[in-house]
Amino acid sequence: MTDKLNFDIDYMTESLVQLLNIPSPTGLAGDAVAYTQTLLRPFPVEMKLINKGALVATWAGRADSAPRALTAHVDTLGAMVKEIKVNGRLKLTKIGGFAWNTVEGEGCHVFTGDGRRLRGSLLLYKASGHIHGAEVTDTKRDDEAMEVRLDERTTSAAETRALGVEVGDFVVFDPRVEVSPAGFVRSRHLDDKAAVACILGAVKAMHGAGLQPAQRTTIHISNYEEVGHGAAAGFPPDLVELLTIDMAAVGMGQNSDEFSACICVKDSGGPYHIDMNRKLVKLAQEADIPYKTDIYPFYGSDGEAYWRAGGDVKVGLIGPGVDASHNYERTHKDSFLNTARLIAEYLLAE
Ligand SMILES: [Zn+2]
Repeated sequence: MTDKLNFDIDYMTESLVQLLNIPSPTGLAGDAVAYTQTLLRPFPVEMKLINKGALVATWAGRADSAPRALTAHVDTLGAMVKEIKVNGRLKLTKIGGFAWNTVEGEGCHVFTGDGRRLRGSLLLYKASGHIHGAEVTDTKRDDEAMEVRLDERTTSAAETRALGVEVGDFVVFDPRVEVSPAGFVRSRHLDDKAAVACILGAVKAMHGAGLQPAQRTTIHISNYEEVGHGAAAGFPPDLVELLTIDMAAVGMGQNSDEFSACICVKDSGGPYHIDMNRKLVKLAQEADIPYKTDIYPFYGSDGEAYWRAGGDVKVGLIGPGVDASHNYERTHKDSFLNTARLIAEYLLAE
């Protein structure tokens, strides 16, 4: 039935670009949560922030007998200042799981305790080819070897501290968002802001057609997913099904692509619920939505976070395909349409 709905690709893309440009590493995702709240305001949902900071929006359904939920996360990878070195540069600790080489050379902001943002970049501590020769290639990229060079006049720890920098300050890497004429969106942190855009697209299309979900639906926007416990809290006690919307891993050996609605049937946490997997495939087939089933080798989700926290629900996972995940990522606008359509089919299904 979603073939008659109007899925606004421009709206989804614009919302995504705005979200991508809001810094939101895990622990500092409040601005992205607040922006998502603004985007949901035109729709008939009741919203609240839970103590942990996640956004919980409730959309009344035609029935209340088997409540459902969607979850997606706006928190992203990032880092924190671990140590101010004697030369004034900064050692970092990672927030979330990524390899240092994926952000090497990237511009960044250090968020100081007094609310300022200092500019800098992430480099290998032996960065210059003219000085270190082969060591630039051969040095292992680990916490010891990477440092932030601030674009400020400092050559000592004291001078850096005088700028307001302290251990525990957040460090945010530039997303470098680009939308190509061919419909690709290239950016860091498409995981999982692209999924949030897909949820918004589904809600807008359904609301625009005067439709409401078959069951009362909670839309949960998570702010601690990248560290594993995001959606552990925030759902109503009578929840029956949880559909996690998170990026699909595209790459060598994978079935997912950047265009389809991707259905994850198993990841590092094991299989998703068989009823959800089968229902999602059936819905995609009946509605003629291009879809792919897939398995992600090194991957966990907020749906599993709720299972581990004791949630007695059926969990499934779908999402837009993201190439080079937890790196400089890319997806295509077609995946917004197909994922939003599958979300809407799921919400509308009896
Ligand atoms: Zn994710």
